[in-house]
Amino acid sequence: MKGPTVRFLGGVREIGGNKVLVEDGPDRVLFDFGPSFSPRIEEFYVDYLQPRSSCPAKDLLEFDLLPRVSGLYSKEALGDADLPYAPPEIQAVFVSHAHADHAGYLRLLDPEIPVYVGEGTRTLMEAIATSTQMKYGDHAWRVFQDRTAVRVGRIEVVPFPVDHSIPFAYGFLARTSEGTLAYTGDFRHHGPRAADTHRFFSAVAKEGVDSLVIEGTRAGPDPRRNLTEEGVRSSVDRVLDGHKELALACTYPRDVDRLTTLHAAATAAGRELVVSVRTAHLLTQVASHLPPAVVPVPGHSPGLRVYARRKLKSYVWERPFLDTALTAEEVRARGRHYLLALDFAHFPELIDLRPGAGSPFIHSMSEPFSEDDVSDQVMHNWLDHFGLVFHQMHASGHASGPELLDLVRTTRARTVYPIHTEHPEAFEAAGPTVRLPELGRTYPIAGGR
Ligand SMILES: [Zn+2]
Repeated sequence: MKGPTVRFLGGVREIGGNKVLVEDGPDRVLFDFGPSFSPRIEEFYVDYLQPRSSCPAKDLLEFDLLPRVSGLYSKEALGDADLPYAPPEIQAVFVSHAHADHAGYLRLLDPEIPVYVGEGTRTLMEAIATSTQMKYGDHAWRVFQDRTAVRVGRIEVVPFPVDHSIPFAYGFLARTSEGTLAYTGDFRHHGPRAADTHRFFSAVAKEGVDSLVIEGTRAGPDPRRNLTEEGVRSSVDRVLDGHKELALACTYPRDVDRLTTLHAAATAAGRELVVSVRTAHLLTQVASHLPPAVVPVPGHSPGLRVYARRKLKSYVWERPFLDTALTAEEVRARGRHYLLALDFAHFPELIDLRPGAGSPFIHSMSEPFSEDDVSDQVMHNWLDHFGLVFHQMHASGHASGPELLDLVRTTRARTVYPIHTEHPEAFEAAGPTVRLPELGRTYPIAGGR
């Protein structure tokens, strides 16, 4: 095929696993590199049955759970896989944001390949790698600036910040020697950075892109209830208003917007928001990359406290928070003064906290994808055991199906490729420019159809 091309190495008919390869002559740029959230990986790897850390790429390639691309993986990750090691044949990897399904396989890459991220994302990744099992590997890291072009051979990439459920998320324009492609990453425009998303899509429309690669998490049937971030705030306000006991909440650990919303709601209700040590570390690290006073910072923002779980040992990164952290006994004694954000994995703390029957539990995360979700059942078993009252209130990190169709129409791209969705065909309602991509297939960026 002559001319610049795009190839989809993941994220096809699945949510997550995005790997979008743009090629222009000898120049190759990859956008995102994460594992899929689809059940397919669980056909082979589940719970403690995981790829060997000595040769993870080999163990994933065995079942075609990774693309067979030479000059991409590190020698160490490949081990003696039947895909032999080759020096880098990709000049750059751009990461749209730090969610695992976009960045979770970076550690498999050849460390010589430069990895481009936003400044805040680099800090966020460091905070995550320090405080969790997630590792991103060693790379030639490059930090890009908002809306400032980066040239990689013949390809020029412009990163645009977008609104998503993790800070420092980006969409990209990729200008090639023949045609321009836009890749949205994950986005919404009902959160606090909606203006960024609008600005990105205006740029895409103005550019007159040939190919639009757009996420479609919520395309197709979407029965789950969804609010705006402001809607979450007023719903939390209502719950806190009606209760005089300890209030509990559960959020995604990197949803800084939600933590900010919960902090504001707690403060307005005369309570303090209590977060885990891990969340405290994350907020402390990312705050300097956000406008002042946008996120609550432990030790600086009034109304924010840290919770000390019962643990046998503490890590170095936890120690700055432990002296002033609240124990289970303190939270239990003054329950009505607190809104405690608890991770699902930390539910055993409830055994010490002993919230009174009827205490509110705010589930500020996505509703389960299926009715036989095991962890959802386990969560409800815990809530029932303690007599907690469940409240669902969440703002998704993704645009809704109708919003996606509107955006596709307004950008007027010549060809539209829906990825990161289980229902790509839902985009066909936007018109004949929509083309459902096939896994591993190559498409001309400017070539139309
Ligand atoms: Zn995401």
